[in-house]
Amino acid sequence: MEIVKTIGDMKALRRQMRGQVGFVPTMGYLHEGHLVLVRNSRKGNDHTVASIFVNPTQFGPKEDFTAYPRDPERDFAMLEREEVDAVFIPGAGEMYPPGFDTWVEAGKITERLEGAVRPGHFRGVATVCTKLFNIVEPDRAYFGQKDAQQVTVIIKVVRDLDMNLEIVVVPTVREADGLAMSSRNVYLNPMERKAAVILWKALSTADKLWAGGESNADRIRGEMMTTIEKEPLAVIDYVSVADTETLEELEVINRAALVSLAVKFGRTRLIDNIVLKK
Ligand code: AMP
Repeated sequence: MEIVKTIGDMKALRRQMRGQVGFVPTMGYLHEGHLVLVRNSRKGNDHTVASIFVNPTQFGPKEDFTAYPRDPERDFAMLEREEVDAVFIPGAGEMYPPGFDTWVEAGKITERLEGAVRPGHFRGVATVCTKLFNIVEPDRAYFGQKDAQQVTVIIKVVRDLDMNLEIVVVPTVREADGLAMSSRNVYLNPMERKAAVILWKALSTADKLWAGGESNADRIRGEMMTTIEKEPLAVIDYVSVADTETLEELEVINRAALVSLAVKFGRTRLIDNIVLKK
């Protein structure tokens, strides 16, 4: 497995690759969720490139950029075991040299949900993914359903800017109790970790109501909030039932709906989602 730090070296390595190339962009501190993306890429392509880059431009000034967990050596060992061909791990100065000032904005959908709470977040995500796609030139890039709005934004950017790659969305990988795997779960103390299962309970509540014939989105949001409010350590950021493409809140679920939520436990903010299909 090659460990590549510069854009020039990554482009040179890419030029040597024959056949289809799959790409898995990450911020590192890998877990099983990331590895499932890697395995999907390995299955569907001749080569797999992963990237590890804690992207400063997608963090707000008061967010956890500095505290974000990092362990590149452990990540390399995990990726080596998965037989990844190359890991691209640039420094911030390599990706954003002095004078960098071109940004990718994906419009309205970036102002809702996570975008409403984290202004500028998706501009950072869209810009770094565009750069990474240009550097790695993959045939396919793999993203987790865990970050549903990120998926929606990236699919839109790829479509709107006529990029030559396919976006593959991989279902969320969960712990045994239902908590979605996330690099940020390490922030949780043991009590918060136990309490965090409430996200999955709230999503399951929505799923059961929908399966039982409930299509009133407000009632579903209300029941989810009631479920979460039973957990004293949980502080709700938002609970949403929205159109899967426009991310506009729905009154009646009469098409595919993204049920998503953000909940804080102390300083740790967790997100999760499910899709209700017609
Ligand atoms: P991150 O390192 O958190 O930026 O995540 C890198 C990629 O892994 C993104 O496409 C995430 O959506 C995906 N990912 C993170 N956690 C999970 C999970 N539990 N299941 C599936 N994909 C995930």
